[in-house]
Amino acid sequence: MSTCPVNGLSFRENVDHMVESAMRILGVSETLGEAIKACRSVLQVKFPVKLRGQVKVFTGWRAIHSEHLLPTKGGLRFAPIVSQDEVEALAALMTYKCALADVPFGGSKGGLLIDPREYDDDEIRTIVARFTLNLAKKGFLDPATSVPAPDMGTGEREMAWIAETYKQLYPQDINSNACVTGKPLDHGGIAGRTEATGRGIQYAIQEFFRHPDDVAEAGLSDGLSSQRVVIQGLGNVGYHAAKFLSEIDNAMVIGVIVSSGAVVNLDGLDIEALHQYHREHRSLRGFPGGTFVDDSEQVLEMECDILILAALEAQIHGGNAVRIRAKLIVEGANGPVTCQGEKILMDKGSVILPDIYVNSGGVVVSYFEWTKNLSHMRYGRLQRRYEATRAMHQLTALESLTGQQVPEWMRSEIVQGASELDLVRSGLDDTMREAYRQIREVMVESEEIDDMRTAAYVIAIDKIARWYRIQGIS
Ligand code: GLU
Repeated sequence: MSTCPVNGLSFRENVDHMVESAMRILGVSETLGEAIKACRSVLQVKFPVKLRGQVKVFTGWRAIHSEHLLPTKGGLRFAPIVSQDEVEALAALMTYKCALADVPFGGSKGGLLIDPREYDDDEIRTIVARFTLNLAKKGFLDPATSVPAPDMGTGEREMAWIAETYKQLYPQDINSNACVTGKPLDHGGIAGRTEATGRGIQYAIQEFFRHPDDVAEAGLSDGLSSQRVVIQGLGNVGYHAAKFLSEIDNAMVIGVIVSSGAVVNLDGLDIEALHQYHREHRSLRGFPGGTFVDDSEQVLEMECDILILAALEAQIHGGNAVRIRAKLIVEGANGPVTCQGEKILMDKGSVILPDIYVNSGGVVVSYFEWTKNLSHMRYGRLQRRYEATRAMHQLTALESLTGQQVPEWMRSEIVQGASELDLVRSGLDDTMREAYRQIREVMVESEEIDDMRTAAYVIAIDKIARWYRIQGIS
């Protein structure tokens, strides 16, 4: 593992710190290192919007970290605390995330300084349209060069408004739908995008549990179904991760933390009921299926097997890491463990599944959506019936040759052609397994690398460095 400076680092310095460690291991020259780390361009916009009879000036950013592959890709964050530094750090993270997952995009990120809860739907729509106009007119939004997606505080409805505004601005652009991903299905989106980041977390954890050595290294035993899970965050990412892990893998989610408190049930929480309750009451207090705890730190630090961090950055740091008792820490959010926090966790023997691997599900499925938009056709549309008919003929042939009947449940499974959702999930699962395989390979081969984050950065930087070297920058 890389060493960590004693003084606290900003989010951006944390990312740079990891990148520099990977570069040292790879022997990347200082010049090439600078070229890779540099944020190519940042746009800051300030635009006035008249709301409720008053003019309010909003501030937003779009940072393009790396254009070595185009388009550049990354979410748009709407939050009351966004800064240029944060947006640049997140854009850099997108570059490395895409490289690791073999998504052929550069990294970018955007942010708008706003508390979305202070505005009604029509107002948000107006604000989104104005932000979109500013980004598009200044060359920071289009299908070929810079393609946003949902992030904290934004979702498919904002993405639909962005696509609509862009289309009005450039009606002659036949690929206009590809200017943004994470759109609703009926606005050019793709099946499985909303669940994608949570689904990716599930696939990453499933893959981890396919490797008994890795499981033992974390001090865990048995399969995923015997693990007790605590999740921080019940937004789109945390909710889907919790839902899939509890409903499909039968893991027991014993604690869920949100910004206003936490809820605990050592016999397992009903995630669907909890999510419903949280949507209705905007709080977990009073949820009948568990005990409410005011002090969320207490739940973050409770004994469990897997702790999934799916909320904000810097949640585990030098001040609280020593009290964290989870054996496997899963970074569903971007940058939830600081460099100092990581050092303490690793000294205690915890294993961390790093953000650049774990939360790449969103951008992976965004890639599928972007290619779908460019092809103007739903995945599986051409082959689904063909595959189903073919499978039916094969079954009939098998039955007539053997004289035996395939059970009905098996028949209906086999003769189904793949839907778009099946294909998206299959592509995401494959990506998560392949990235894990690469991370493992690096850890086995290198004596110097003993943590997954460093291994993941080494893989990402190596791929990007090779691109630059071919372009004569070394
Ligand atoms: N906001 C997501 C992320 O941080 C998704 C980005 C995308 O789909 O482009 O990875």
